Amino acid sequence: MIYAWHEAQWQQIAACGDNIPNAWLISGRRGIGKTAFARHLSSVLLCENPPKPFESCGVCASCRLNEQGLHPDFYELTPKKDEEDNAKKLLQIKIEEVREVIKNIHLTPLRGHRRVILIHPAEAMNVQAANALLKVLEEPSETVVFILVSHSKDRLLPIIKSRCRHFPLNMPTKTAAVEFLQQQKVPNAFEMLAFHGGSPLFEFDAELDDLRQQLLAVLSVPRMVAILDFAALFDRKKQPLSLFLEWFNKWLVDLIAALHGDDEEVLFYPQYAKKLTELANKLNFSNIFALYDQSIRLVPYGQHTLNVKLTVECLLIDYLKLTL
Ligand SMILES: [Zn+2]
Repeated sequence: MIYAWHEAQWQQIAACGDNIPNAWLISGRRGIGKTAFARHLSSVLLCENPPKPFESCGVCASCRLNEQGLHPDFYELTPKKDEEDNAKKLLQIKIEEVREVIKNIHLTPLRGHRRVILIHPAEAMNVQAANALLKVLEEPSETVVFILVSHSKDRLLPIIKSRCRHFPLNMPTKTAAVEFLQQQKVPNAFEMLAFHGGSPLFEFDAELDDLRQQLLAVLSVPRMVAILDFAALFDRKKQPLSLFLEWFNKWLVDLIAALHGDDEEVLFYPQYAKKLTELANKLNFSNIFALYDQSIRLVPYGQHTLNVKLTVECLLIDYLKLTL
């Protein structure tokens, strides 16, 4: 299944007809339906009895096996959560996993006419894994199609990208995305969509949403006691620093936009547009940029087990100082 907002692009990809590349790179923003699109493409490539080029029949053995996730010629590489389900750990696709999938790549497909290997997100491959993949991309087999999905194609090795046919997927329009969220009964569809930068596919987690609302309350009226309470609360929830940084940095980006005096520019927290403009009027442009810079520098450490509570406190106290 593909999302309604990708129908037109599906027609474009379908226009490839028999000209199927050895590897596709499907890129675009996180949460817009790239993996669904790639899975749909896989099912079409595996169908044994396509009614038309780039359509799957839905009834052949391959289509049925694929629907149940049991197709022996379909492989999926995606980072696995570790046993402790440690949210603080960065998830990677490792070389052993790539090797396991590619070891039989030159053998005849088990069921149909080709094998399909879906890798998502491709940037989760570590360097060794990416190099192992590169070797097979350099010696393509006619019966194997790779589909790489990427939220951030700039993080892929250029040589890997050069081996793929690039297919960037569009964002849905705001209207289509809000309509979709309302159908899914996501509360505050407009606000949630803004927070996710216009990408409508996200898991709504009421507990995290509540935690984020508490941070926004602290940011809109910063007070020392509230800051210390929030940092302690965030720490108790055992969430990675990256989550805090995402929420906080989006606030700073909105604040910088509001500094220009145009609350229409507020992207992520439109419900706070007025408050952001009020705060922005009191702030010094270079100070707020310096804080943003400081916070952005921490992003690479977002999954590290450094002292999350202390880091959250420091950033929020620096923020408080700016508003005094
Ligand atoms: Zn079929």
